[in-house]
Amino acid sequence: MTITIVGAGLGGLALARVLHVNGIDAVVYEREPSRGARGQGGMLDIHSGQRALREAGLIDQFFAIARGEGQDMRLLEPDGTLLLQEDTPEDAPLLRPEVDRADLRSLLLDSLPEHTVRWGHAFESADNGLLHFADGSSATYDLLVGADGAGSRVRALLTDARPTHIGQNVVELSIPDIDRTHPDLAAMVGRGNYWVLGDGKSLAAQRNGDGRVRVGLSFYNTAEDWFATSGIPFDDPAAARARLIEELNGWDPRFTALIAACDDTIRQWPISTLPVGLTWPSTPDVTLLGDAAHLMPPVGEGANMALLDGALLGLALAAHPDDFPAAIKEYEREMFERSSAAARMSADMQELLMSPDASQKLLAFFQPG
Ligand SMILES: Cc1cc2nc3c(=O)[nH]c(=O)nc-3n(C[C@H](O)[C@H](O)[C@H](O)COP(=O)(O)OP(=O)(O)OC[C@H]3O[C@@H](n4cnc5c(N)ncnc54)[C@H](O)[C@@H]3O)c2cc1C
Repeated sequence: MTITIVGAGLGGLALARVLHVNGIDAVVYEREPSRGARGQGGMLDIHSGQRALREAGLIDQFFAIARGEGQDMRLLEPDGTLLLQEDTPEDAPLLRPEVDRADLRSLLLDSLPEHTVRWGHAFESADNGLLHFADGSSATYDLLVGADGAGSRVRALLTDARPTHIGQNVVELSIPDIDRTHPDLAAMVGRGNYWVLGDGKSLAAQRNGDGRVRVGLSFYNTAEDWFATSGIPFDDPAAARARLIEELNGWDPRFTALIAACDDTIRQWPISTLPVGLTWPSTPDVTLLGDAAHLMPPVGEGANMALLDGALLGLALAAHPDDFPAAIKEYEREMFERSSAAARMSADMQELLMSPDASQKLLAFFQPG
């Protein structure tokens, strides 16, 4: 029986690894040409997903690459008022450590037998047990798992649901080697997360494992075509930075200094989600995991859910090696319930972040009573 996974992201790789640990082979088809073909983005905070890494036999290696100090947090108002500062004590438990996404993906990739991942295979469609790739090649499958992320193509085999824009657009920039190039800004951001929330915008800066600080500027209640209509010349990074600084008119100059210090890498990121509580009738030979199944606002659940989905589907298949349809049903029952709860919680947090008094609400969230 061939288990075929489309997508070598965190969820697909966690599934392949847990299957491998349980003596079951799988093939992962990934559209990227190689593991280093695309930057993997910044840090992830891994909490419930730690269970997946335990099931994968990788928890010690995970703790070796996790950054406990990444749990530090500072929350500020646009006028520079510091609302909250939490510094992680040396001996604090690693409940929500930050890990570099590239390091975590490498940990999973290195734990798989060679040739498990077939790079350069962009899935296009599937019919009658046959997968078709963009380069015209094809492959057979007995069980197809769509782990192909937010823009999943496998999803269409199970549901008509599509992600819809939620009125948030994020511009992501970064400052390389900040300790050397801008030590003052490095000290201001600190070791973990640095948040400024106010007037329909937010700035989230975060120290990464490689000494880079990533800066995400969110514009709330903006339309899906905002990147094209905002008038910000994204193809001219220096001019775009100048325009972004104008957008933060009235904000403390320390915050705009962060934007001015960024290099020319600018990423545009419109935020979409799938409907909360999405389900589909179980199908014997196809299922989904991760963002393909339950794309949520990016408030710290998605990677954890993807890892858990992969591990739990792997365990279900290992428990029913001769009955994949039963394994899929068992996995989907638990996954729908768990991911619906996480999606609901994420949607509530998203609503808070988009509200006019977001900073005070977030302060109350972190310091209840
Ligand atoms: C900037 C940012 C910060 C985030 N921070 C956090 C956080 O702190 N904590 C958290 O829990 N979550 C976070 N998330 C969400 C998290 O990254 C995602 O939920 C998670 O990566 C989903 O994993 P996945 O395996 O489902 O999909 P992905 O990681 O997106 O992997 C999908 C893979 O499928 C491949 N693929 C796509 N289409 C095809 C195709 N047609 N054929 C073959 N391969 C294909 C892609 O190339 C990719 O490798 C963040 C997201 C972003 C963007």
